[in-house]
Amino acid sequence: MYTMPDEIGYFGEYGGVFIPETLVNTLNELESAYNFFCQDNNMQDELRQLLQHYAGRPTPLYLARRLSEKYGATIYLKREDLLHTGAHKLNNTLGQILLAGYMGKKRIIAETGAGQHGVATATVAALMGMECTVYMGSVDMERQRPNVSRMKLLGAEVVPVNHGSRTLKDAINQALRDWVTNCNSTHYILGSVVGPHPFPRIVRDFQSIIGEESLTQVIEQTGGMPDDAIACVGGGSNAAGFFHPFIHSKVKLTGVEAGGRGMSDGDHCATLTTGKPGILHGCITYIIQDNNGQVLPVHSVSAGLDYPAVGPEHSFWKDSGQVSYAHCSDTQAMRACVELSRLEGIIPALESSHALGYLMEHSEKFRNRTVLINLSGRGDKDMDTILKETGL
Ligand SMILES: *Cc1c(COP(=O)(O)O)cnc(C)c1O
Repeated sequence: MYTMPDEIGYFGEYGGVFIPETLVNTLNELESAYNFFCQDNNMQDELRQLLQHYAGRPTPLYLARRLSEKYGATIYLKREDLLHTGAHKLNNTLGQILLAGYMGKKRIIAETGAGQHGVATATVAALMGMECTVYMGSVDMERQRPNVSRMKLLGAEVVPVNHGSRTLKDAINQALRDWVTNCNSTHYILGSVVGPHPFPRIVRDFQSIIGEESLTQVIEQTGGMPDDAIACVGGGSNAAGFFHPFIHSKVKLTGVEAGGRGMSDGDHCATLTTGKPGILHGCITYIIQDNNGQVLPVHSVSAGLDYPAVGPEHSFWKDSGQVSYAHCSDTQAMRACVELSRLEGIIPALESSHALGYLMEHSEKFRNRTVLINLSGRGDKDMDTILKETGL
């Protein structure tokens, strides 16, 4: 039995609750709502219905034949790119909007990096007729413009954040500030397995449907367990949900972080390789920081992986060796994106391309093995970046 986190929100020495006093009651209220959900068949059934008929679950598990042939492994792609709104984020926002409704909240706030979580939040707010405000770094608004337009069309207000590096970390700070002021009326739909307890647990549980379906599907299609499962890691939600049902199995799990322009180039990235434990956004976890504990700016070609920390459960999995963590550079990810497009007719998100890029770069490790890769999202949102980087 997997019993993480403990009742005060710790995964070993990581996690916990480090927040302003005003949010203590709000987080307790959220935990109670989630505990109610866990034993209420009606609410669970409502979520199941929405996931099936609104979001399009189960998503396919697809044997990528040409990719497999080229790299000498049997490669299956879990097609979260086919989920409504184009990424795995909706699994979490659908679950959390039901919790918000149960708590009687009328207003939703969220942060977003690549804009996928903002779109998934604006989508469920529209679905439930709730007011929605999304905080987004102004740098990210520039590089993910189509998603800004989608959020506006869905009726959300998108607020540019001009502090700090003007990316995801700063958007989370701004959303937390809003929440401190408006917590009676407002639920904050946090988009990854980060933040104070109970968010890392709630988001992991809502994303675990990815791994549960994959497990059933791979047994159906191959008659057995895979050898490997690989997913990209930004905050770590798609990876946590994908890995969770496999955590006590023999399947080798690999989380791939953004390696930016290359680890020797002075870029700060790959939190679990180069970071150290510290506190960011309400929990203890690995963080990219200087010797004085100042959080350092990170860089990745994919806005969704541009985050200087990682969920606390991943920090625990790293130390315990239950999951291996690796990285993939901007260039390798971009190459993988082009390659999958041409070998399989699937344009992957640049985030997901990091998982593919790692497999392609290290294909000798995967020879004759059965490998599941979580294709966390589709690449339409990245077309501007892809065109610029590849010169197509
Ligand atoms: C947001 C996003 C990610 C990164 O977030 P995680 O919480 O690490 O999953 C990865 N892939 C896609 C397509 C995304 O939209």
